[in-house]
Parts: sequence; structure tokens; C-alpha cells
Amino acid sequence: MLIDTHAHLDFPGFDEDREQMLERCWQSGLRAVIQVCFNRQTIARGFPLFEEDPRIWFAVGLHPQAADEYDEETLALVEEKSTHPRVVAIGECGFDRFRDYAKVPNQEACFRGMIRLARRRKLPLVIHSRDAKEDTLRVLREEHAEEVGGVMHCFSYDLETALEAIELDFCISFPCFVTYPKRNQAEVVAGLPLDRILLETDSPFIPPQRIRGKRNAPTGIIDSAEAIAAMRGIPAEEVIQATGRNACRLFGIAPPEGPA
Ligand SMILES: [Zn+2]
Ligand SMILES: [Zn+2]
Repeated sequence: MLIDTHAHLDFPGFDEDREQMLERCWQSGLRAVIQVCFNRQTIARGFPLFEEDPRIWFAVGLHPQAADEYDEETLALVEEKSTHPRVVAIGECGFDRFRDYAKVPNQEACFRGMIRLARRRKLPLVIHSRDAKEDTLRVLREEHAEEVGGVMHCFSYDLETALEAIELDFCISFPCFVTYPKRNQAEVVAGLPLDRILLETDSPFIPPQRIRGKRNAPTGIIDSAEAIAAMRGIPAEEVIQATGRNACRLFGIAPPEGPA
């Protein structure tokens, strides 16, 4: 089952043709999308757009780049939104040291707050981690994130780090950069148990090789499934079935039947 476990479909780049774009996705066999709302702005924009669509679920949280927004009031907003019946995860949250969008101590405080919220709400976590693998694993362990598990989204680290995350009951999610000749994560992709791998696009970002430089859409996961299948030497259909099952299990979702 084709499930895009991480997308930002509220972004203005979809304003012109959002409905048509989504229709093309459903027609191509996509069964579900998890829309990630990760700061005040995307929470305000994302929920009204998609909460009526039975094929779209939500993750809600505070991104490390939004960590300077983290205070009691924002935490209360995220917590309130997390009770929405279509919210299936807390995040994305974590560390981003690639650029200094938010102060590092604020990133850590915000990340801890999100893990505690996920444990209170008994929801899995969506982790965003860039250039911060040790700190990410340290905070996950210190805050007992293994109690809820979740997914390491846009995974860009090595196999050893992936296996450590799996020990904490996390899945590993690959975006369309697995289709890039120079950044395909082949060793990690081939070294993981198939029942821990998820597919995502992070749309509108990270388009597959086929449409590099353009806007990505959830259909991009088909490219990723093919690339992952080639790296593991199995049929693409097997990757699609396994990753779909993994997503349903982790997020507790049951997508409606696809188009006839
Ligand atoms: Zn992210
Ligand atoms: Zn994202």
C-alpha cells in the first residue's frame, strides 16, 4: 500500500492546484498521506485544509527550527491540537544543526517537551535530526522515547545510527534522495530489516531524480520504492506492501479503499 508518511501539503507552492495534485496522487494508487504541521503557521494552515479528507492524517509538533517559539502557550496549542481525532503522531521535532534557525538550548528544551507530550498522549514521534545524531539519540534515551517509538524521518545518518534507533523502537524513513546517484543511502537501505522502513516525500521538498529542481508531490514515493527495491534486490511491489503495512502499524491507521 502506497502511503506517504511525511508531507507538507499546506505550503503555498500547492495553492494553485492542490486539489488536482491530490487527485492525481489518489489516481496513481496513493492511499494515505500524513500531513505534518510543525509550527504555529502550519498548524493554522494545515488543519482546516485537510481535516475533512479521510485519506489524510496529521502529525503535530514543533520543528527544531521553530524552537524559539517554544513556550507554555505554544505547547498548550500543540497539546490541544494533538487531541484532534486525525492526529496520529507528535512531530516533527528534534535537532537541526545544519543552520542555526533556533538556539541549540531551545532546540533541546523543545525536543524534550515534545517527547514528554508524546508520552502523555501515547502517540509515536516523528523525529527530524540533521547534523546531530549523538544528541538526538542521547535525548531520546534520557526522555524514554522508546515508550512510544516513532520514526526517524528523512534519515541521513549511517547504518549503526539506524540500528540504534531501531533498538529504541523507531522506524527509519527515506525520502526521495534515495533516487539520487550520489546520495542514495544504499548501505543503510540494504542493511535494515524491511519491517522498519517507511517511505516519505517531505513534499514539496526533495524531489526524486526524475523531476530534480521541481516541486515534489506524494507520488514521488513510487520513485523511492523502485530505488529501494533495486538496492535490496527485491520487487518494488514488495517494498510498497511492506512499507504500507509498517506505516499502518506505527500510526494505527486504516486507509479507505483506493479508487476503483
Ligand atoms: Zn524534517
Ligand atoms: Zn518535514
